[in-house]
Amino acid sequence: MRSSLPPLSAIGLVAALGLPGSACAGEPATGRAAVSEAIKLDQVGYLPSRTKLAMVTSAQATGPFRVRRVADGSEAASGTLGPAVADPDTGDTVRIADFSELGQTGSFYLDVAGVGTSYEFDIAPNVYASVFTVAMRAFYGQRCGTAVDMAPAYPGYRHPACHVAGTPNPDAAMHASSGATGAREAGQGWHDAGDYGKYVVNSGITVGELLWAYDAFADRIGGVRLDIPESGNAVPDVLDEVRFNLDWMLKMQDRDGGVWPKLTSERFGSFVMPHLDDGGPRYVIGTGSAPYKSSCATGDFAAVMASAARVYRPFDRAFAEAALGAAESAWRWLSANPNVTFRNCCGVQTGEYGDSDCSDERLWAAAELFRTTGASEYDAHFTASYAARGPAVTAGPPQSWPDVGNLAMFAYYFSGQPGAGEAVRSRIRDDMLSAADAIVARTRANPYRVSLRPEDYVWGSNGVVANYGLLLLLANAVRPTPAYLDAAADDLHYLLGRNSFGLSWVTQVGDRPFRNPHHRPSGADTNAEPWPGLLSGGPNRYGGDPVIDALPATPVARRYRDDQASYASNEIAINWQAPLVFLLAGLLPEGGR
Ligand SMILES: [Zn+2]
Repeated sequence: MRSSLPPLSAIGLVAALGLPGSACAGEPATGRAAVSEAIKLDQVGYLPSRTKLAMVTSAQATGPFRVRRVADGSEAASGTLGPAVADPDTGDTVRIADFSELGQTGSFYLDVAGVGTSYEFDIAPNVYASVFTVAMRAFYGQRCGTAVDMAPAYPGYRHPACHVAGTPNPDAAMHASSGATGAREAGQGWHDAGDYGKYVVNSGITVGELLWAYDAFADRIGGVRLDIPESGNAVPDVLDEVRFNLDWMLKMQDRDGGVWPKLTSERFGSFVMPHLDDGGPRYVIGTGSAPYKSSCATGDFAAVMASAARVYRPFDRAFAEAALGAAESAWRWLSANPNVTFRNCCGVQTGEYGDSDCSDERLWAAAELFRTTGASEYDAHFTASYAARGPAVTAGPPQSWPDVGNLAMFAYYFSGQPGAGEAVRSRIRDDMLSAADAIVARTRANPYRVSLRPEDYVWGSNGVVANYGLLLLLANAVRPTPAYLDAAADDLHYLLGRNSFGLSWVTQVGDRPFRNPHHRPSGADTNAEPWPGLLSGGPNRYGGDPVIDALPATPVARRYRDDQASYASNEIAINWQAPLVFLLAGLLPEGGR
């Protein structure tokens, strides 16, 4: 853990030198036992008021453990490990060190008899503040069409303006699949993931969840300074950063209200910096036949623009009105074209985000438009359609880019509109709480205390974890329940090191972060460490790349490698990053910092 970022100092060097299990710089020579990778914990730390567990996977453990203060090695708490439990998802045998009773703040480490010591961690009310900042700032690092420089916190992480006129790849010509000709100024936006494409569907859930984070936790994150070019203006930095992608999305809307699904080259370029992208000309890409725009992209677009109209209104009335107009025009197109699906065609090989059912995107659009305007048209569509999904919210899987139905339900429930149907809200509430209760129950039963079921170890499983956390935090907003917060924090602990690999899955966060993301700037630049604050996709039971596919038979939660070539388990992506930001925001101290 590091209580303040940037942390590159010791961690990077130690890791770069390949010193296994080395302890941190500044460690006093007090005869502290060596760090053992068999003690898995949140390498950032814990909230004073929440449960505090570490997982021990060494058969050498004799039972007793102590929590010691970093400052002088003195004992702050002690206990006995719980019984050994076999975890079929990882193949690990896990014993729990429960030090929840330790309520004091400070920097600590575990000392487990027979095993060794843990990495250091903090206990503090604002223990996740610096992680929130670096995770949110990671979106700035994904900016397209402009120069990026992560200094002063991360000097050397920079690139000149990419994908702009005058380079080989201006954004962008109209592709043959778009039904239009010529070119279109569609710069800005975020690079989607490890590649440099820009995709409306994936931008939709990403921006939607980030706006939700602001909606739900404005008092905690509205004042956070991100050191972005807009810092210091009258708009919260979080909203300035989101605006950068919203402005791009607006450019993807055609005059008839429909929205083209993506802007990419026809094929992926090689592992180079973005201004050197050699993927070939970039295009606004469509479905290949009339009406050329897709319903899923248009539905996601309508939802987030409606949300933006509400969130930005206090800061920029003109933008709010433009966003609402764009949302309403998208809605009209969607009503006339409810299920135009998108598949790659016409020589295009980049990410597809193919989705055969756009009814959930339309439902989300209706809910957000209703939430923003209160108009009966949107209420009528939502009320007539939502029950067709079965339970409004289930215990899994959570929301994802192909299924944004949960976001529709949350938006309607929290609409605050006097016209909202109480019977509908009541049903959503009941289903949400039932889902949250079920997630809590299985998280408590999981040896690593993570919400994932075996079937959840899909491509981007770490995003699934974070989305469970988001669901739990919203359930807590429906009915404040400490167990929901504990389970949400448990999901964060998993992402920050309390997992079978003992890895923090956020770059440059914690003493042992993953280091080799499938992320072109991280692979192509000269920095020893990857770009900061990025969440790995995580274990993927289905594989799909040569690295994971070559693994021997392995339990589902072990199908991961910290290898740049493993795009199926170690890519980064904005749609996983967003729920991580939401989860961190929800665990920041109320009332800001
Ligand atoms: Zn770019």
